[in-house]
Amino acid sequence: KTKLPVVSIVACLVPEMGIGFQGNLPWRLSKEMKYFRQVTSSTFDPAKKNAVIMGRKTWESIPARFRPLPNRINVVISRSFTDTLQEANDLTDPYFKINSLSGCIDELTTKMTKDLERIYIIGGGEIYNECYNMADYWLITKLTPVDTVEPEMDTFLNTKTLKQVFEEDKTHLSEFLPEGVELPEKSEDGCYHAQEKGYSF
Ligand code: NDP
Repeated sequence: KTKLPVVSIVACLVPEMGIGFQGNLPWRLSKEMKYFRQVTSSTFDPAKKNAVIMGRKTWESIPARFRPLPNRINVVISRSFTDTLQEANDLTDPYFKINSLSGCIDELTTKMTKDLERIYIIGGGEIYNECYNMADYWLITKLTPVDTVEPEMDTFLNTKTLKQVFEEDKTHLSEFLPEGVELPEKSEDGCYHAQEKGYSF
């Protein structure tokens, strides 16, 4: 039985692995945002879409006019939602509201293989730090401030866990992504950034 690949995608500032500040991104990097949009929207099979799974706080951090994220199946996780995926068939809703991260990944990866290509886990901190044993791959943009001061941050990846599950594999990133996804220039707004792909094991 096929299982869809689960890919966590994150931009973090090294070495602290900071990812957020006061409910938003600590930086504004338009090329990095474009890369995120292209990766999560693109598919090898034009008949399929990707799903993006996010925590309730990350959903709320997206301005209302930009959500749900277009051309992707949006899934929002909150303990206060009542639905499991099986019950979430109210098609008037533009996104799925699910109350369990692991349950949701199980259901999506095994029952929606006809329509979906990949499951992208798009944050935030709580979700990333819970999904280590569920993600098959990590796509990490490592940011290093070069000629700008380090932004303030209050949300971090759990580096200890990440080191245990993450093995860098730079060579295959372009093959892992559908044609047309551009790797952004390395430097933007005083930040150096590098895209990397890693396997979870
Ligand atoms: P999250 O976005 O991870 O959302 C947390 C919420 O998700 C919880 O409060 C809970 O919702 C729900 N939740 C978490 N785990 C589960 C579970 N197992 N089952 C059911 N519901 C669950 O919040 P964070 O504050 O950790 O992260 C947000 C920050 O991360 C922001 O600053 C954002 O900008 C940043 N971010 C950064 C990214 C990057 O690449 N740099 C990407 C995405 C976000 P409830 O309380 O409703 O029960």
